[in-house]
Amino acid sequence: MEKKKLLEVEGLHVSFQTHGGTVQAVRGVSFSLHEGETLAVVGESGCGKSVTARSIMRLIPEHIGRITEGHIRFQGKDLTALTEKQMRELRGSQISMIFQDSMTALNPTITIGEQIMEGIIRHQKLSRQEAKVQAIETLKLVGIANPESRLRQYLHQFSGGMRQRIMIAIAFVCRPKILIADEPTTALDVTIQAQILDLFKRLQEQTGVSIIMITHDLGVVAKIANRVNVMYAGQVVESGAVRDIFYQPQHPYTRGLLGSMPRLDLERDIPLKSIPGTPPDLFAPPQGCAFAARCEYALEVCGRYQPETTAVHDRHQVACWLQDPRAKNIRPQMDEAIG
Ligand code: SF4
Repeated sequence: MEKKKLLEVEGLHVSFQTHGGTVQAVRGVSFSLHEGETLAVVGESGCGKSVTARSIMRLIPEHIGRITEGHIRFQGKDLTALTEKQMRELRGSQISMIFQDSMTALNPTITIGEQIMEGIIRHQKLSRQEAKVQAIETLKLVGIANPESRLRQYLHQFSGGMRQRIMIAIAFVCRPKILIADEPTTALDVTIQAQILDLFKRLQEQTGVSIIMITHDLGVVAKIANRVNVMYAGQVVESGAVRDIFYQPQHPYTRGLLGSMPRLDLERDIPLKSIPGTPPDLFAPPQGCAFAARCEYALEVCGRYQPETTAVHDRHQVACWLQDPRAKNIRPQMDEAIG
């Protein structure tokens, strides 16, 4: 049975005003998140994945950026229509975000305990003593030993992996329904990365929290996600279950990303493939498919018109002209070339 939708993003557009003009960072993104699932959002730097995440939290700096179109519905409530005061009540208690760099996201001058308890006292109106008990429980939950004494320590007294666990504890202390993790393992070595991903899985198993994992790393996607959105130039170009994206990718960009992953089953001296070219300028996005200048299968129509999003099957969708029945002669060539 399909689980209930918790979050629905519909036709989201986000722009930033800069001295050079308007950057169209997110251009019509739509997706949904169900209860208890992990959705990975994957793509290169600048593809709009972090801006999408921050838009859900309404954390786009107002002096330069804004949501220009679209809706973000959380349990049916449109977050784009809430006041800042209403959003403050929701952030941390219902939807929380974990940032990439703990050294800049956390305050080095305040004890870890104060930073964890702040959210509990604000959202749950508990006494300091009650908040302390909850903070200790949460530190235990995220795998920090001796939590009573750790509460009195400062950021510099923790290793990188421990700091990431503390960020997760702060985000999770009020037991939100959605955790948004923005590249939470990028700065960690592979062993600690695996431990942190295991921690996310364990939290989900124990509490049913839904997770949006923003990453550029397909290894992270394979380990943790149920479904994947592939983003390119501010748009979702392909979405589907992990097995669809890894075993039956349809968009040439998704195939390029997969082709650039190191593989243990290939000869060591086979060079990794790369995707030639660079992403388009989002000051003036191309009128057709944004990937056309880098796509070896581009058709004449690709440079002129945006491809529609079409269903490959039930919950696997792709925005590419190759899905058009008239491109049937091109598809076999692509399948053969990529294997
Ligand atoms: Fe390539 Fe055309 Fe598909 Fe874009 S729409 S990915 S240019 S084939």
